[in-house]
Amino acid sequence: MSSINKSITELRRKKVFFFDLDGTLYLGNKLFDGVIELIKALKEQGKRYFFLSNNSSKSTSDYLKKLNKLNLNATRENIILSQHPTISYLKKNNYNTVFLLGNESLKKEFIGEGFTLSESNPEIIVLAFDQELTYNRLTKASYLLQKGIPYIATHLDDKCPTENGFIPDAGGIAALLYKTAERMPVVFGKPNKEMLLFKLKEIKVKPQDAVMFGDRLYTDIKMGLDAGITTCCVLSGETTLEMINKSKSEKPDFIINGIWDVLEIFS
Ligand SMILES: [Mg+2]
Repeated sequence: MSSINKSITELRRKKVFFFDLDGTLYLGNKLFDGVIELIKALKEQGKRYFFLSNNSSKSTSDYLKKLNKLNLNATRENIILSQHPTISYLKKNNYNTVFLLGNESLKKEFIGEGFTLSESNPEIIVLAFDQELTYNRLTKASYLLQKGIPYIATHLDDKCPTENGFIPDAGGIAALLYKTAERMPVVFGKPNKEMLLFKLKEIKVKPQDAVMFGDRLYTDIKMGLDAGITTCCVLSGETTLEMINKSKSEKPDFIINGIWDVLEIFS
């Protein structure tokens, strides 16, 4: 695939680098080759970089701990998680009491942001990557959904890649609830382009000066295309060349084997 690698040299001109995490920079707790060196090179060359994840299984604090354990130099300023636009929506619309389908770690973040959590009398249901899901919680959510309560999700990825294979993600839980209540939530994480555009506005960089790296066509690549930024699909996660060839609308600008291919254009 050397011809593919050759063409990515134009990415040298970009000012902002958005990186998806699962499947792009690491799998589980294992960083891909070249990641540390690439981040170091970007830093030295004065480039801005942001870590993006739809994975709302952890709070922002826990995510920072995980990324810094992997030596990724993450801060609150350069991490964008799907719960961030979701929390911002809840606050803007004055929701206080939330039924959160999410892990303990995320629940702590919501409480820290001032929300009250309730499974019996909430104003809205928020679906996240709930790995502590129980049948009892699904039952309560199903009853409320049938009563017409507002329903939103941090993200709707179908599955999450891990070292041993895929595991069900928020999209899988939403599909399960759909079978019962016939409702789907409004989504705030990827592929919602605002996840990139709000940051570009904040740092005053034009979309054409940014690039999005990701392993998934229907979230990472779609979001980049919708936001008008350059997209680069890595084949180290969910997507195969065959899937890209088959896709009608989600065609990345570049395709690379993995993030390690980018390192050579910066060294
Ligand atoms: Mg990914």
